[in-house]
Amino acid sequence: MTSHVFLALGSNLNDPVAQIQQAITALASSVDAIECAPLYQSKPLGPQDQPDFVNTVISGYTDLSPNALLSALQGIEKQQQRVKNQHWGPRTIDIDILFYDDLRLNTPQLTIPHKELFYRSFVTIPLFDLIPNGIMPTGDQLERNRYDSSKLVQIDT
Ligand code: ADP
Ligand code: MG
Repeated sequence: MTSHVFLALGSNLNDPVAQIQQAITALASSVDAIECAPLYQSKPLGPQDQPDFVNTVISGYTDLSPNALLSALQGIEKQQQRVKNQHWGPRTIDIDILFYDDLRLNTPQLTIPHKELFYRSFVTIPLFDLIPNGIMPTGDQLERNRYDSSKLVQIDT
């Protein structure tokens, strides 16, 4: 069974653009037909004494279950030497599952859709690049005017 997934990627250490590109290359072994939104630079949430973030969203198709996909993402994070430290602190790569078809899941390991992310313009703005009408896989409507894109800078890659 193939599922349509949307993933959010973020990095602010060790050449963030390269980190995101490397992660997308690695994802290609578990996710087919990857479409990538533009990359955006933004100021960190929380602690300000850290580099700016680079974020994007991708869409693609996978045969992995939600938990197997999470394991694959964590494998890529590990491979890129993500070190767990401060909450909202610097990281080489963070990959989160936004949507998995129209699935709604709430387990200790996984919340899908990833609720916190819909309050973050660095996720919703690239999501609109992939879903211009804002109708998410769950059928819910994302309202573009609720998000401030003024602090996001699109990066030429
Ligand atoms: P964060 O993404 O909040 O900065 P982490 O990447 O360290 O922090 O993730 C912490 C935990 O969040 C993971 O171990 C994972 O089990 C859980 N999690 C819950 N929902 C999701 C999701 N939709 N995508 C990715 N991780 C998730
Ligand atoms: Mg994460």
